[in-house]
Amino acid sequence: MIATIDLGGTQTKYGLAKNGKLIASGVCKAAPTQPIETHLNSVVNYLEDLCRAKGTTLSKCDGLGILSTGLVNNQDMRVLTTNCKYDDSTNFDFKAWAKARTGLELKLENDARGALLGEWHFGSGQTKQNLLMITIGTGIGTAVISEGQLLTGANFAGGNLGGHILVNSGGRQCTCGAHGCLEAEASGWALNEIIHQHELFHYSSLKDLAGIGFKEMLQHAEAGDKCAIDVKGHFFKMWGEALVSYIHLFDPERIIIGGAIMNSPDEMLESFRNTIARLEWRGGKNVEIVAAQNPTNAGLYGAAALFESEQPENYYPLFFEPVYKPAIWGGELMKTLDRVLPETETPTGESWEIVDRPDEQSAVVNGAFQGKTLRELIKLDPQGIVGKGHNPEEPFPLLLKIIDAQKDLSLQIHPDEESCKHLEGAEPKTEMWYVLDHAEDAKIMAGIQDGITEEMFRSKVNDPNVRELMKTYDSSKGQAFFIKATTMHAIGSGNLIYEIQQNSNTTYRVSDWGRVDKDGNPRQLHVEEAMTCMKHKNQVNKPVPYSVSDCKYIPQSEESFFQVRQLASCDFFKVEEFGLMGQLEACADENSFHTLYAVNSDLNIEHKGRSYTLKRGQTCLIPAKAGEYHIKADSNSKIIRSRIA
Ligand SMILES: [Zn+2]
Repeated sequence: MIATIDLGGTQTKYGLAKNGKLIASGVCKAAPTQPIETHLNSVVNYLEDLCRAKGTTLSKCDGLGILSTGLVNNQDMRVLTTNCKYDDSTNFDFKAWAKARTGLELKLENDARGALLGEWHFGSGQTKQNLLMITIGTGIGTAVISEGQLLTGANFAGGNLGGHILVNSGGRQCTCGAHGCLEAEASGWALNEIIHQHELFHYSSLKDLAGIGFKEMLQHAEAGDKCAIDVKGHFFKMWGEALVSYIHLFDPERIIIGGAIMNSPDEMLESFRNTIARLEWRGGKNVEIVAAQNPTNAGLYGAAALFESEQPENYYPLFFEPVYKPAIWGGELMKTLDRVLPETETPTGESWEIVDRPDEQSAVVNGAFQGKTLRELIKLDPQGIVGKGHNPEEPFPLLLKIIDAQKDLSLQIHPDEESCKHLEGAEPKTEMWYVLDHAEDAKIMAGIQDGITEEMFRSKVNDPNVRELMKTYDSSKGQAFFIKATTMHAIGSGNLIYEIQQNSNTTYRVSDWGRVDKDGNPRQLHVEEAMTCMKHKNQVNKPVPYSVSDCKYIPQSEESFFQVRQLASCDFFKVEEFGLMGQLEACADENSFHTLYAVNSDLNIEHKGRSYTLKRGQTCLIPAKAGEYHIKADSNSKIIRSRIA
């Protein structure tokens, strides 16, 4: 746990943070004219109260992070400059004070830099290596992360003085001595002066207010007040043009906007995006403009982030909570994969291993992204997670499942792209199955027998003997079936299947073998839709050639071996089975994520010096930008890997 303090000009915030989450916080009045030590001592008293309320003590914390205004030497933990606030802090030994008063290790940083570190580790800056953050409040602070490093410069001012960039040279007097700085033209402290000096002020609805902040300016502008509209126009112009200069200077991938103005982020972000689109001159990719995730407590997250010794690791192997689905044909075969199944009346039929659908989401269970859903991750970084060119609004392209067919699944069909054009709300679904385990007489049905016409098939759909018209195979472990969309199919009873499919949930049931549910009702059939799929299917089915070129095998012992079997390759996914004993060096190459499933034994996945255990029966996702990873297997292991490119 980290104790945090964000020293402000009007209020000081303090809190306790653990694993990137603020677990308690408070606010007290700032005392910028008091000696810094007096103020800090009283804030520490409040922190001690917070600790007591949480059943702990301050001395048990792992460190104390403090953010201060002014330039800060973040190596020696000294404040270098002040501006009429806590003026004695330049002569104050924060480190020695912290040791004596709290016994804790101290880290000190400038508030704008701290806020950016907080957003980088825990908020809107995650997954990015080139970031700029501007905090617009009473003053204006900026900070920059360039190529994964916090910019500090020769004198700890690097990227920090964006509030004093000239946006209106010769304009209003700034506290720094210059005329026309962004801070003098468009900060909280400038706002009051600018409004009061405006020629329309005495006719303005703002003149009756006790205090005027950004919120009031925006509200009155919205209501049509001419003075407010005029000042707002000036502020938006100044802010937008400053951002363009920052883009030209620092070339960030993403700009995070924080501070008091983010009370109405949509209008603000839209205005900034327009100005940037008009003036930005780098060419190439657009800069993303986003709101801070924690605008009110950015400083406390930031102070906690000072203790994150490493760069945030965003592209690590992701493990998810399985989503279990009941089905009348389900059973308990998944228990053989050491799964604890939900206690439900209807047995468990499926485990959705990786899913990103409007009604279901995989949630991360490990690392920095713990608790985040796959959708949230893709929104944060579509190309880093899924692969090149992926649109953040588009779902994850695949759905991965384990299917426990204790009983026969229905006879069914899924549409392809072409037949979807004739079916309302349909999503195409090509899938493949890998038989993990099966009962002795288990069968798989895939495709209608040659020579059976549509009419012959249709005339039999109400008869459970329709199965006699299907191509039927005896199940065998490790066998793969490629079920192209518009192929009639059924998984027979006694099969445990790993399924890789297009992200779709459109199934047309043709026959349920005369089965009824516990209340005696049959499940709905969709014979007409199924026939539409068959009629409109696109006959073209070109295999997509590919090679497994990213892998290098390193034997570890005499009995080591390695083999690759290509299981499926189509426009939607490529799936291979590795047989492995030894070490396999593989690489996600930015075009596609990889998923890994451990078929018969636990595996070790090594990535950037960290080791992850992929247990037998578990799936993990290697993000597209994860780069190199190693799979280590001590025994004859089988691994199913899927990807989209
Ligand atoms: Zn200035």
